[in-house]
Amino acid sequence: MSQRRKFIKQSLAGSALFLPGTASALSAFESKKSPNGERPLILSTWNHGVPANAAAWAKLQETNSILDAVEAGVRDTELDMDNLSVGLQGLPDREGITTLDASIMTGDGACGSVAFVRQIKHPISLARAVMEKTPHVMLAGEGARQFAIAQGFPLEEEKLSPKAQIEYDKWKVTSQYKPIINIENHDTIGMIGIDSKGKLAGSCTTSGLAYKMHGRVGDSPIIGAGLYVDDEVGAATATGLGETIIRICGSFLIVELMRQGRSPQEACEEAVRRLVKKSKNIQDIQAGFLAVNKDGETGAYAVHPGFNFAKATASGNVLIDSKSHF
Ligand code: ASP
Repeated sequence: MSQRRKFIKQSLAGSALFLPGTASALSAFESKKSPNGERPLILSTWNHGVPANAAAWAKLQETNSILDAVEAGVRDTELDMDNLSVGLQGLPDREGITTLDASIMTGDGACGSVAFVRQIKHPISLARAVMEKTPHVMLAGEGARQFAIAQGFPLEEEKLSPKAQIEYDKWKVTSQYKPIINIENHDTIGMIGIDSKGKLAGSCTTSGLAYKMHGRVGDSPIIGAGLYVDDEVGAATATGLGETIIRICGSFLIVELMRQGRSPQEACEEAVRRLVKKSKNIQDIQAGFLAVNKDGETGAYAVHPGFNFAKATASGNVLIDSKSHF
């Protein structure tokens, strides 16, 4: 059994008991169960979602803010040197430059994102700064970098991580430009969370498709494609070949399907069906979606087997294999 498929369980419930705080501070952890769901709850893509969820959960305990939680969770992944698809250690574009995309959103419609940004260790925090400190939703490229400098974000040296350098050197032997994502090997992290009171937030961060054209932007920073959150309905996030997800406005589509009465699982399945219908060479393309509705009921679905996700509730933090279309 692969590491990715291994069932991982961490006790999150126990740690809440040691939290100092007032009754209202602890209320974010009054776990609420309904026949269909549970709150609070955090969902995130892939096996790195397990430590990311743990970081998010700890932050939710600390600040009672689901926005703080989804930011802190994916910041953990942005620092993971073993991860070649998130953060500055991610695989570069075909010019050998690592560029990052990220977005963040809360259920009241506030959102921010950065695209094609260089030298910033935590693009998710830069996306949050766009959301909170500018009148805009999205900053890209040099403008995003300038904004980061103005906000006091340190600029990192522009140098590939040792692992990324090895992979890039191998790729350069053929320099074959193939915008196809390995079925089991995307590492973008998308995270969606709901607190005990039903407030939602989400985050998504990536170095994008390996060896992409310089300037390519994927779904992750596009509000409605890689991430969408609405307190009236629920939230969704995506991973996989961004071009296919953008074409169907994947995350927005899932939230709208839930608004019309579909369950999170039905909504994810319908989004994958549409994506499959509109994509050529579907045998080589992977994409996966996660969704949660207001009750804390969840859904997950992918084009191919291999997609997994981490789910954290008061009873634990588990890695689950998603169902798939094929
Ligand atoms: N969705 C990301 C992108 O297309 C890639 C991924 O999830 O691996 O940029």
